[in-house]
Amino acid sequence: MLDRDNFLRAENTRHQFHPMTHPMMSAEHPPQIITHGDGCYVTDLDGNRLVDGVGGLWNVNVGHNRAEVKQAIVEQMDRISYYSSFSGSATAPSIELSAKVCEMAAEEEITKVMFSANGSDAVETALKLARQYWHLVGQPTRTKFLSLKQGYHGVHFGGLSVNGAPYYRNAYEPLLGGCFQIDSPWTYRNPYSEDPEELADAVITQIERTIQAQGSQTVAAFIAEPVQGAGGVIVPPASFWPKLRAVLDKYEVLLISDEVVTGFGRSGSMFGARGWGVKPDIMCLAKGISSGYVPLGATALNKRVADAWYKEFSETGIIMHGYTSTGHPVGCAAALACLDIVEQEDLPGNAAKMGARLLEGLKPLAERCSIVGEVRGKGLMVGLDMVSDKDARSPMDPGNGIVERIAGYAREEGAIVRPAGSVIILSPPLVIQEPEIDIIVDALTKACDRYD
Ligand code: PLP
Repeated sequence: MLDRDNFLRAENTRHQFHPMTHPMMSAEHPPQIITHGDGCYVTDLDGNRLVDGVGGLWNVNVGHNRAEVKQAIVEQMDRISYYSSFSGSATAPSIELSAKVCEMAAEEEITKVMFSANGSDAVETALKLARQYWHLVGQPTRTKFLSLKQGYHGVHFGGLSVNGAPYYRNAYEPLLGGCFQIDSPWTYRNPYSEDPEELADAVITQIERTIQAQGSQTVAAFIAEPVQGAGGVIVPPASFWPKLRAVLDKYEVLLISDEVVTGFGRSGSMFGARGWGVKPDIMCLAKGISSGYVPLGATALNKRVADAWYKEFSETGIIMHGYTSTGHPVGCAAALACLDIVEQEDLPGNAAKMGARLLEGLKPLAERCSIVGEVRGKGLMVGLDMVSDKDARSPMDPGNGIVERIAGYAREEGAIVRPAGSVIILSPPLVIQEPEIDIIVDALTKACDRYD
């Protein structure tokens, strides 16, 4: 056994490229190797049992190793593990899951779902179907996309083109033309105002000016996350999303809500946009839909958008898009089991309650710790904004290793947390309860105190 453990440690970075890291860096700082999971805990190769404060990668919402989900997967595999969804063919779980998602998103008037395998696929599908929608309704000049700085929309070329952080894009240019990033309504760091209402208005004005400058007849859609996740857990002012919906309606621009992280409860409501009282036209879903047990993505269309495909039978309406894994029966079966748990255990409600406890527990760090500038969040999305100069709110340089070191200390205290640039991100499973929340708070408090 030890031989195998040593083999895994030595070989982890030898033949595989890990995402979002330099191959040489990962050789220098060998990443953790996780061997087991149960509920909100994972165990690593050294036998440490740790609270999973990252929830896999903000996706294991129902917790690790749930018997119901494993059973659904095995039962589906006993029937059939794969068949194609092309040309109208289907397996039972994809039919049932599309109906389930439409039922859960009835408030948003979602009537159609197109499946894929990841969040990046869900975004790519949304961007392509948005363009096709405009062809179908006779406005093919609407091809451009607007998005927010600090936004993250996955790694495919379309998603990258609307991503709001240049460091994701730089090595892969040239990307799609006609994509415009607008300042994020970020209260902690913005050149406009500390007042949330004034800030929301300033950003909405920028959006309106951009639509006007480009010509509304050229703008297909605006894509944004209800709470920006990977960009550093940025919670917009409460009025921002309603105002965004209003300005987009004025110019008939589609609203794509990227709910890959927020979908199915993470921000404290079933969908993130619902938490802001807004109904998007298109929603991108992944992560929590199947809690990471099997990869799955979904793009959900409301009636306004979906109906465009049913006006007449035309070549323009053929959906020349889709993946081998679209409607994957095992992924869909896992998702059906996960969504039952989301509803039965009221995971959005638990995310709101436990998120409040986590935020409250960590907030004092921003008061007393020299390198914690702000602690912010919504539901079970919480970020610690680490700073090198508290008064100037200067983000900590990720290159100096301090954020990584704090995360390392927290790990030694029993909790996995995620250093992402200058922000420490927390996104535990939505089934988490008070004792595990308190372990995370305690671990991060000790970690920051140890640094100070
Ligand atoms: N959109 C958002 C908002 C995300 O946070 C992510 C991933 O974190 C993606 C899209 C891409 O999802 P995936 O990594 O599954 O391709």
